[in-house]
This record gives sequence, C-alpha cells and structure tokens, in this order.
Amino acid sequence: MTGKKIRVCPKCGSSRIREAKSSVSGWLVPSTYYCEEEGCGYSGTLYVEVDAEELETLRKVMNGDSETAASDH
Ligand SMILES: [Zn+2]
Repeated sequence: MTGKKIRVCPKCGSSRIREAKSSVSGWLVPSTYYCEEEGCGYSGTLYVEVDAEELETLRKVMNGDSETAASDH
C-alpha cells in the first residue's frame, strides 16, 4: 500500500487538474481548481481525490468503455 493520493478532474477524470491561486489577499476564499485537459474546461471548487492505483479504473468507468467487460461474460 502506497497510500498515494492524486487529484483528478470530476468531469473527465484527468489528473491534469490544477489549483488556481487566488490573488486576493486577506480573504478566505475557497480554492478553485481547473482542468487542463483539452475539451474539458472544468473549473470549480471540487476535485476528486483517488489512489494512484484507482485512477486507471476510474478513467475506464468515466469513459464508459466496455471493452474489458465484454470478455468478462
Ligand atoms: Zn477535466
């Protein structure tokens, strides 16, 4: 168990999510995250945190790819 956690985009599952630093000083503002994935354009205060090992599984689910499930039956 590595326990390594990574942030991924809640919209597309990409790990290319970044935290946008606010330039407002002296104010407690929630961090905003945005996705660098082309064609996604997500930005918001939410992100998904998963184990590094779970990322591949998550992305398969989000892609709706049933390639692996087909041979499972
Ligand atoms: Zn995204």
